[in-house]
This record gives sequence, structure tokens and C-alpha cells, in this order.
Amino acid sequence: MKIAILSRNRRLYSTRRLAEAGVQRGHDIHIIDPLRCTIDIASQRPTIQFKQQELTGFDAVVPRIGASITFYGLAVVRQFEMMGVYPLNESVAIGRSRDKLRSLQLLARAGVGLPLTGFAHSVDDTGALIEMVGGAPLVVKLLEGTQGRGVVLAETYKAAESVIDAFRELDANFLVQEFIKEASGADIRCFVIGDKVVASMKRQAKEGEFRSNLHRGGAATLVKVTPEERSTALRAAKSMGLNVAGIDILRSNHGPVVMEVNSSPGLEGIETATNRDVGAQLMQFIEKNAKPYKTKTRGKG
Ligand code: ADP
Ligand code: MG
Repeated sequence: MKIAILSRNRRLYSTRRLAEAGVQRGHDIHIIDPLRCTIDIASQRPTIQFKQQELTGFDAVVPRIGASITFYGLAVVRQFEMMGVYPLNESVAIGRSRDKLRSLQLLARAGVGLPLTGFAHSVDDTGALIEMVGGAPLVVKLLEGTQGRGVVLAETYKAAESVIDAFRELDANFLVQEFIKEASGADIRCFVIGDKVVASMKRQAKEGEFRSNLHRGGAATLVKVTPEERSTALRAAKSMGLNVAGIDILRSNHGPVVMEVNSSPGLEGIETATNRDVGAQLMQFIEKNAKPYKTKTRGKG
């Protein structure tokens, strides 16, 4: 198969591993920087130019769209969809996952367990917002943050009030969430491909930190998930419309709660912690599922 990997940097572990796995399985792999693609939507025949050459004959595209280029990156994925190329994750589903509030709304509708979460716009609602999630301690999150940036723990009511007021002052979009203290700085990342959790790891925040992100010094180890956690992860990915997802779960005393859904989950942490060849499994999924024009939304809505 001819497969495009949309990635800004061919030296990134995930990009490299995907390319290796694809080549190993006999595929023709092209790493394409989405920011160097030009989109031609003027004609009946949608096309993409990359370095002055038209991209043709692709069977599948693997979007690895970083948060900072979501807007243009998704436009490129959508254009591939218009051309009938099978996307490993479709543009609409990636778009949903990039907005934490929208994701949580979709998960809630599907009945997936979530931390108590509130969101408000008006300036005089601070107290009500704090009460909505059961008071302090609580977590305040920027809607479009990533890698733990923009996630703040407010330990007291006063601190919560100040953080919320400061974010409002900045006109930032944020949500307020119950702090799952009993998770003790750990979360579970379930790597979902299709209808399977193919690997899972536990990430533990470093001493004195509540955020378990590996980018913030968290440590990853292999973990065995419970059947309830497994089904939570699968339902979460399905309700977002993602074929591939990293579902982050906190072990709360009211059961597993989904904290975040990641549509371009990294391979390095999970492959290292679990010793699984996730790259090869992603390629196998493409081999099984790639068909022309096979998306649920074809870029709509
Ligand atoms: P990001 O997109 O920046 O990774 P997350 O929502 O995943 O944002 O939050 C970063 C980290 O903060 C999580 O991995 C988790 O360890 C911690 N965290 C986030 N929300 C909560 C919460 N409600 N309760 C306890 N810990 C949390
Ligand atoms: Mg996270």
C-alpha cells in the first residue's frame, strides 16, 4: 500500500517507528509535512501539492497532527478524505478530541465515567463553578492545553478563586474539574486500536507533582487494566469516532474516569513500557480497514 504519514518531523520517535513498521510490512511510506502541502479546492477534483508535486495514488494517511498546527493540519487530512484516501483517524474525530470541553460532552453523552466538571463564562459565577465540582481542591484546565501545560491544581477555595479569576481576565477558555486525589499522581494510558486496548501503561508523576505527563518527568510502567477500565477506554474512543486513541484514565473511588482523549498518542512511552510493537499493530489495522472513501463523516460536521 502507498501510505502517507503526516508529520512535521521525520526524526520523532513515533514518526520513525511508524515508517519502519510500514516499510517492514512491505508498504510504500511517504512522510509528509502538512505545513508544506498546498490544498487545491477550487476544482471538482480535489488535490494536494507537496513540494510542487501532486500527491496521487495514496491508499491511506496517518495523521500525526501536533496541537500547535491543528487548524491547517486538519484541513490537509480533510483534503485527503475528499480525495478518497483512508484516514487512520478522521479529521472530524481529531477535531473533537482537540477541545477538552467538547470531548467531555461527547463522553458524557455516551455514559462514560468522568470527573465532575464545570464550565462557565460569566464573571460572577466563580463561586457556583467551584461548588459545582464539590469545592476545593480542584483542577483548572485550559481547553486547548497539552503536555500538562495549562493544568493547575488549586488546593484551597481562595486559590481556586484567584486562578479562575486570572484565567477569566486573560479571556482564556478553561474548565474546572474535581481533583481525583486518590489517584495519587498516577493515571492509566490505554492505547486503543479499533476495538482493542493493545497496550496500557501507568504513568506516575514525579515527587511533588500531580501531573503524570512524561514530558513533566512522569515515569511509565506496564500495568494490567481491569475489565471495567478496558471497556471504559473502548467506549471513550468509540464515542469520539477515533480508530486510534490514547485514553487517559484516573482510578477514582467512584470507578475509572476518563480525563483525556488523545488522537495522536505517542509510541515511545507505550512501546518502551510495554515492549509491544504498537507501530506494527497500527499498520495491520490499516491493512485490514483501508478502503477508498471509507470515513463516517467525510469531513462533514
Ligand atoms: P494535558 O492535555 O495537558 O496532558 P490533562 O488533562 O491530561 O492535560 O492533565 C495533565 C495531568 O494532570 C494528567 O495526566 C493527570 O496526571 C493530572 N490531572 C488532570 N486532571 C486531573 C484531575 N481531575 N484529578 C487529578 N489529576 C488530574
Ligand atoms: Mg494529558
